Amino acid sequence: MHVTASDAPDPGELRRCSRCLLPETYPQIAFDENDVCSVCRVHRPQHEELLGEEALRRLVDLHRSRSGKYDCLTALSGGRDSTYALYYAVRKLGLKTLAFTVDQGFIPAETWENIAQATRILGVEHVVIKHRLSQKSLAPMLRAWVKRPSASMVSFMCLGCRLGMRKVFLQVARQYALPLCISGAGEPEGSFATAFFSTHSSRLRRMLALFGGIGVELLRNPRYLLHPALPWRMVVEFLYEYPPAGFIRRLVSPRWEYVPLFRYIPYDENEIMRVLTEELKWQKYRYSAAAWRADCKISLLKNALYQQTLGFTKHDELISGLIRRGLISREAGLARLAHDNQIPEQFLDEFFAELGVRREHRGPAG
Ligand SMILES: [Zn+2]
Repeated sequence: MHVTASDAPDPGELRRCSRCLLPETYPQIAFDENDVCSVCRVHRPQHEELLGEEALRRLVDLHRSRSGKYDCLTALSGGRDSTYALYYAVRKLGLKTLAFTVDQGFIPAETWENIAQATRILGVEHVVIKHRLSQKSLAPMLRAWVKRPSASMVSFMCLGCRLGMRKVFLQVARQYALPLCISGAGEPEGSFATAFFSTHSSRLRRMLALFGGIGVELLRNPRYLLHPALPWRMVVEFLYEYPPAGFIRRLVSPRWEYVPLFRYIPYDENEIMRVLTEELKWQKYRYSAAAWRADCKISLLKNALYQQTLGFTKHDELISGLIRRGLISREAGLARLAHDNQIPEQFLDEFFAELGVRREHRGPAG
């Protein structure tokens, strides 16, 4: 699927699922005669998906240290969900926790303050580990992208970050010899980024379709090839997503147990926001209308690029997930979308300037 800015649909005009809010531009979506989307049709109730607090406590108890300084690591990006996960590990599970933040160079100042505040209030030790792979990738990626906008290449704005994160995770796990790592992942979002290329049920076919799809994108827009490290990083990162890498990861750190909190407990936004604002004195990034994913400038940028090419953002996906789980009504979701999807022009101007990339105006892509 190749959507360019010139075909960009108006978010208000999009045909949307009558049950959730996913729009017609969502990759691989299909609607039935009642306008119910294909994602809603295969959705199972949340209690069937969640592993439960009991399972979480059993798992955590296996790793509780009797003598050591720490029981576990918590991956703290400074975003809403990871900050809540840290709170949960310390206050609800009573774990001696070492928090760590991967600094990829694009964390807003407000987020750094939130991290300092939360670790201080919770009495948690905190380490920051930097990697420079995102900083090396983002500017040349974006410079190529703006010349020929393509929705399926937006996820590559995170190029280098996934790789950097994994390297840091393994480094931290080995350095501190703590096999348990709790994160704020598992929230009700999908990952439509790879669905642009294929949704085949076979992993091998999906991987082949992905490589083929990326190849076509690189031929369509050879500007990505001006920096040979970009395509190379794409290949390496996606190898991590498929079984061979999982196998390698187990070899590197066989005891590593990664716990996405919201695969175990319900994603209760009201409780998350209550804890953050009342107990941890959390503040939002000034340019982000939404509290979710306000911990990284790249995620805001990606939403702007999705909006430009598809007329929707990751918020449409998250909010549709919340509606599907009965956590908010469809009407409330629509109102949330109108609010959360506002991305200030000033943010884009400043961020493009920071990266040294010229902003192209909407128009026929070439
Ligand atoms: Zn739906």
